[in-house]
Amino acid sequence: MEIKKKDIRALTKEQLRQFFVDQGDKAFRGNQVYEWLWQKSAHDFDAMTNISKETRSMLEDNFVINHIRVDQMQRSSDGTIKNAVRLHDGLIVESVLIPTETRTTACVSSQVGCSLDCRFCATARLKRMRNLNPDEIYDQVVAIDNESRLYFDRPLSNIVFMGMGEPLMNYNNVLKAIEKITSPEGLGMSPKRIIVSTSGVPKIIKKMADEEVKFGLAVSLHSAIDEVRTSIMPFNATFPLKDLREALEYWYSKTKNRITYEYVVWKGINDTQEAVDALVKFCKFAPSKVNIIEYNPIDDGEFQQASSKAVEMYQNTLERNGITVTVRRSRGKDIDAACGQLANKS
Ligand code: SAH
Repeated sequence: MEIKKKDIRALTKEQLRQFFVDQGDKAFRGNQVYEWLWQKSAHDFDAMTNISKETRSMLEDNFVINHIRVDQMQRSSDGTIKNAVRLHDGLIVESVLIPTETRTTACVSSQVGCSLDCRFCATARLKRMRNLNPDEIYDQVVAIDNESRLYFDRPLSNIVFMGMGEPLMNYNNVLKAIEKITSPEGLGMSPKRIIVSTSGVPKIIKKMADEEVKFGLAVSLHSAIDEVRTSIMPFNATFPLKDLREALEYWYSKTKNRITYEYVVWKGINDTQEAVDALVKFCKFAPSKVNIIEYNPIDDGEFQQASSKAVEMYQNTLERNGITVTVRRSRGKDIDAACGQLANKS
């Protein structure tokens, strides 16, 4: 009978050190292997050239390295790159590299598919198949960092958890991945350059506030009126705006961090003055920024981008009320890499 080998990257550094001690080797060997696994992103044990052949084959007998593989890379005419990433069990997720003049941003996935049912999002149609492990999230970032160096001659500068999945429904693994990304033993990136985006899970937002996490938070709001929000994001019935708002107030009281809202304006859904006024009322308790994102059509036209006049109305009203607004053009639309388009199409 074949014994199922353990994913070596599920071990902490301490556990790895202990493993070597138990084998009658030095704890220090654990540090060396750990560095290969995380800092040097080794795909197999044979790459670990300062480890003896015998030790490498002993590791081979006991463990696997479940490294991701970039199966397919697509490049958009605007420079955006989309990776189709194959996981050890054959499932696929997507991640995106978004270059601008001054930054390279990685948009990474946290789950295979998504359990939320946002009616305007292509990922929702895949349903949730499983959570990603911390190393699978970390590997996506490393792959994009490598591509950024290769194609743009600079390291990755920012990370957004805006790919497939709801990061706060896989919170522990996302947190572990961020710890590794920000640790000097991983990529050593500043947590200030990381944003976790959520549809809003109040309990976890409060937990993040209690843990005083250093990364930023973005909330996909799209409507500040319960009936409307529930009709496009059914998940809002379970976690209504009142609870979300209360959690965000708590978050702000603890972190003093500005809150970013993601917002799409759709024709006939939220393109009214009443909708903007509700948004202003919702976010005025803390310094806020609203990113108005362009709608990326995914279907038969049930949802349509609102007129530029409606977007201007949002912009004016928000600015008048002291709320920062940005209006975002989509990136990577031609390769289905824009917000809400990730659905493993190819
Ligand atoms: N589940 C998390 C992470 C996904 S982020 C969240 O909801 O925040 C993806 C972002 O793109 C979210 O703000 C989502 O609401 C938005 N989005 C989804 N479908 C879209 C579409 N078709 N066009 C534009 N934005 C979309």
